[in-house]
Amino acid sequence: MLKYYIIKQFGVLFVVYPIIIVGGGFSGLVLANGLTDNNIDFLLLERNDRVGKKLLATGNGRGNVTNKNIALENYHGADFSFPSFALKTYDNRHIEGFFDKKGIILTCEDDKVYPASLQANSLLDGLRLYIDEAKIKTNAYVSDITFDKAKKLFTVKTKDDIYYSRAVALCVGGMAGKAFGTDGSSYRLAEKFGHKVSKLYPALVQLVTEKGSVKGLKGVKQTVKATLTVGGKVIKTAVGDLLFTDNGLSGNTIFTLSSFSAGKTDCTINVEFVPQIDVEQIIKSLKNRRDSYPDLLGETLLSGLVHSRISSKICQEAGVAKLIYSKISDKQIEMLAKTLKNTCFKVVDTTGFDNAQVTNGGVLTKDVNPETMESKLVSGLYLCGEVLDVAGDCGGYNLQWAYSSANCVLGAIINGNR
Ligand SMILES: Cc1cc2nc3c(=O)[nH]c(=O)nc-3n(C[C@H](O)[C@H](O)[C@H](O)COP(=O)(O)OP(=O)(O)OC[C@H]3O[C@@H](n4cnc5c(N)ncnc54)[C@H](O)[C@@H]3O)c2cc1C
Repeated sequence: MLKYYIIKQFGVLFVVYPIIIVGGGFSGLVLANGLTDNNIDFLLLERNDRVGKKLLATGNGRGNVTNKNIALENYHGADFSFPSFALKTYDNRHIEGFFDKKGIILTCEDDKVYPASLQANSLLDGLRLYIDEAKIKTNAYVSDITFDKAKKLFTVKTKDDIYYSRAVALCVGGMAGKAFGTDGSSYRLAEKFGHKVSKLYPALVQLVTEKGSVKGLKGVKQTVKATLTVGGKVIKTAVGDLLFTDNGLSGNTIFTLSSFSAGKTDCTINVEFVPQIDVEQIIKSLKNRRDSYPDLLGETLLSGLVHSRISSKICQEAGVAKLIYSKISDKQIEMLAKTLKNTCFKVVDTTGFDNAQVTNGGVLTKDVNPETMESKLVSGLYLCGEVLDVAGDCGGYNLQWAYSSANCVLGAIINGNR
């Protein structure tokens, strides 16, 4: 049992906590639950007016908390193997057990795992209600942390107060989703201790494509196979939803590919609109349609295969939209079929950190112990979750990482007896 104790500083009595958690997002709350379970005192400081704001927005409000298939290949960062220990030791079954104890059953949809309620607030309530409210301070932006090596004492400053502790866990998240309290300003807290932060990119984010390339398609959703190429080289393929926005592409396929395009130039997304049907079959079907309805207007020719607005746009660009079917040649049909199998969108940008779900990059993990998440530069300083240079794919991988890494910190605190 680790309890706080009192010290006298400048003639004033202060509490010294075994650990201060900076940030009340998913990793901070998971850690706070573990400490509570183990009777270890702590203080959690959160800059927002309440904890877990981002968690409520995850999985479109449904809380996609992990995935049935967790593999290192689903994570990105300078050190590929860094997350291995954490993800294996505190895996998706561990997370299920953790929530099960709180009476929250998790269910699965296409390998994505959600609370059975399909409400992210079930997860948040499960975490928040278990923590003694007195141990959480909200509206507490941590602006500075210092460490007295001789006294082995951390001083944690907010605008209004100063707190002391034996250990500090930086659970401050990254730079994605400023509206949730993560604007990237808190990397500074790690940099102050000598930690290096890699170049940061928004990931799991919408991609902006060349001007005019998606004109007229805003709001159209289609199941596709999408392939990212960088400099002409195929990098990654994803199958699933594609959503057209006013200036580019979104949807699960694009979120997945955006992790691989982060920081790269000369990127294109090649879209196969009807992945399940081969080109010969498409040609045959389009010819049948043409011959059955010779007087119909060309722009509708593809609407048996794709959304009518996609049909209209492809036909316009091929110059057959205003022709009647009978005037469309076999050659033009072959071209249209090939376009359905491969339409190329040039990527010019992303919609930025404010709209991204995760940060690609972060505090370099070479200076962090992969089993305890303790800084190799400052004893007693821990970092977990998105603040580190570990970014997961779309599908529950980022909350899993926040969970696994927070549990590494918990293990270290329990074993280290700070
Ligand atoms: C819209 C959206 C949807 C998402 N959906 C999913 C999903 O379905 N599945 C999935 O796995 N991942 C999802 N993610 C990503 C996932 O939410 C994050 O990767 C994860 O929450 C990171 O956890 P964390 O604890 O490291 O940081 P966060 O959850 O970001 O928490 C960091 C906390 O620290 C606080 N903070 C920051 N600096 C300070 C400071 N100086 N002082 C005090 N407090 C501070 C912040 O206010 C915040 O509350 C989504 C992200 C977004 C934005």
